[in-house]
Amino acid sequence: MQKIGVVGLGLIGASLLKSLKKTDEYYLLGVSRSQETVDKALSLGIANEASTDTEILKDADIVFVCTPINKTVETIEKIAAISNALITDTASIKEPIVDYFKDKSINFIGSHPMAGTENKGIDASVDNLFDGAKWVITPYENTPNENIEALQKVIKSVNASCVTANANDHDRAVALISHLPMLLAQNLFDLVQNQNESLKRLALQLSASGFRDTTRLSMSNTDMAKDMLDFNQPNIENSSQEFAKNLEKILEKYKNGQIDETLQRIVHNRANLYDNDGKNTYETEQ
Ligand code: NAP
Repeated sequence: MQKIGVVGLGLIGASLLKSLKKTDEYYLLGVSRSQETVDKALSLGIANEASTDTEILKDADIVFVCTPINKTVETIEKIAAISNALITDTASIKEPIVDYFKDKSINFIGSHPMAGTENKGIDASVDNLFDGAKWVITPYENTPNENIEALQKVIKSVNASCVTANANDHDRAVALISHLPMLLAQNLFDLVQNQNESLKRLALQLSASGFRDTTRLSMSNTDMAKDMLDFNQPNIENSSQEFAKNLEKILEKYKNGQIDETLQRIVHNRANLYDNDGKNTYETEQ
């Protein structure tokens, strides 16, 4: 049985263990920072072994690092020092991490599952988080094919599909579709909060599903939100400028009596992006 290690048993790590456990294909090793989380993982039965000590990973075949972004590099180095496992991470930004390991003789492939919620910690984990999700992998040019295939096999076993991308392209794309939306949601909620007392009161009283759905990401894990800004700020700022320019363009079209076509095109393209279960169906690679 292949030994799979997962480090950082929060939303992503514990959900990954739960999904891998369902396959019954792997011997699972869980590592987390706190003993409380390790005990929870053991009592949930989602790992065959669990510990706060990375030593249990020394014979692992593949290790997924699911710690917060700012702990990812040091955690990968710690594991690589004691194990020959193929190591991947799940961090929401790729270039700083992938670049750091570029010339190091570590068996590492960057990756990022495009699945998550605004919640954090092992209690927020679920066994179907990756069902139908895209999972980005960012191999180096010289990464052996057998390593890529070994990683893809595990990813596919949790019902996700792989998308291969360059780390820089990934960071620009997620700035647009993940990091900027989070910032916009936070900004929108803050904007309403900052109105004068009577307008704010009425706006909050009236806010229904549109405001609820649009501001869901304002409840994102605050440490992760800060990490996204710390590690992807230039791309987020660029996306935010593009956003403002595009908004101007849309308003200009309205003023010129040309808004109908733009709105219809947006409705059509958005309607075709997700299936009825909300899963992204756009050009799935494999
Ligand atoms: P999370 O729920 O906060 O979980 C992270 C867990 O890592 C914590 O529960 C903590 O466990 C553990 N941890 C912290 N420092 C550690 C260390 N030094 N060594 C070992 N374990 C440590 O965060 P998450 O949402 O799962 O995010 C994990 C990674 O996935 C991040 O890199 C994030 O960018 C990425 N990601 C997140 C999402 C999302 O929507 N949330 C989506 C895709 C990718 P203890 O309980 O033991 O302290």
